[in-house]
Amino acid sequence: MEPDTPSHDEEIRPWLSKLGLPGLVDIHTHFLPERVLHKVWAYFDAAGTHYGLDWPVQYRYDEPTRLRVLADLGVEAFAPLVYPHKSGMAEWLTEWAVDFGRDTDGAVPTATMYPESGVAAYLGRALRAGVRCVKAHVQVGEFDPRDPLLDEAWGLLAEAAVPVVVHCGHGPLRGQHTGLDVFGEVLARHPNLVAVLAHAGMPEYGVALDLVERYPKVHLDTTMVGVGFTERIAPLPKDWSARLVPVADRVVLGSDYPNIPYPYAEQLAAIGGWAAADDRLGRNFLRAVLYDTPARLLGLEHSEGARR
Ligand SMILES: [Zn+2]
Repeated sequence: MEPDTPSHDEEIRPWLSKLGLPGLVDIHTHFLPERVLHKVWAYFDAAGTHYGLDWPVQYRYDEPTRLRVLADLGVEAFAPLVYPHKSGMAEWLTEWAVDFGRDTDGAVPTATMYPESGVAAYLGRALRAGVRCVKAHVQVGEFDPRDPLLDEAWGLLAEAAVPVVVHCGHGPLRGQHTGLDVFGEVLARHPNLVAVLAHAGMPEYGVALDLVERYPKVHLDTTMVGVGFTERIAPLPKDWSARLVPVADRVVLGSDYPNIPYPYAEQLAAIGGWAAADDRLGRNFLRAVLYDTPARLLGLEHSEGARR
């Protein structure tokens, strides 16, 4: 009998201890320089005009509080992801994220990229500096992931086997170059990429699962997937849990903390629901998604966790 999934953030830690998990590893959170983060929050405040629905950011605190709350939720390690919306930003955002990841308890150093001259140089430097995760945001950046300017960068990532969280799906907004068929062409050219399809490819969940089955190094993250907010706009297919069975070791916890319009516990409850819906998933699946697989991707398995 599996323990009840958490309905409030306070119930997360007791749930984890009943599952025998030391904590959570979250591959998809966002920390940014304050000035940039406030612009992102202003965008969510106007979500009614962008998305046609309200998006009240749940964890809208100053940075020290956001970090403390994340630790209190039980998150032992996390990837703080940054992303540019235009050229000339990715390099300094990456420098910020490398420093932030190094200096912050629980965080890993990360990087981002944009199709521009010099991208292979700053990404290469970041990889040598020890980044553990990279973010590529096709929708916000409005770039074509097949852009020849990015080819060397994808090659560097494949060679380094560092996971790249790619937001390439049409959700929540269709972009000029979104679509899993477009990113599928990048995978065909770089089949060894450790790509993590953000939001499980929302709303093209079936195509995302096909890519995971085709490419052994491709993963899905759970970010915003299956929560009430998303089910209204991009519902999961009925056979979701059954389809996770063959790829159960390639699904990783992601949350979009702190920019989510609902409590963190809701994401965990959704994942708990998938695990309970198919006997072949259950507790082993939860352990893999919430801890083992993201820890392996972020290279934490041989350390004592990232918290120091
Ligand atoms: Zn995100």
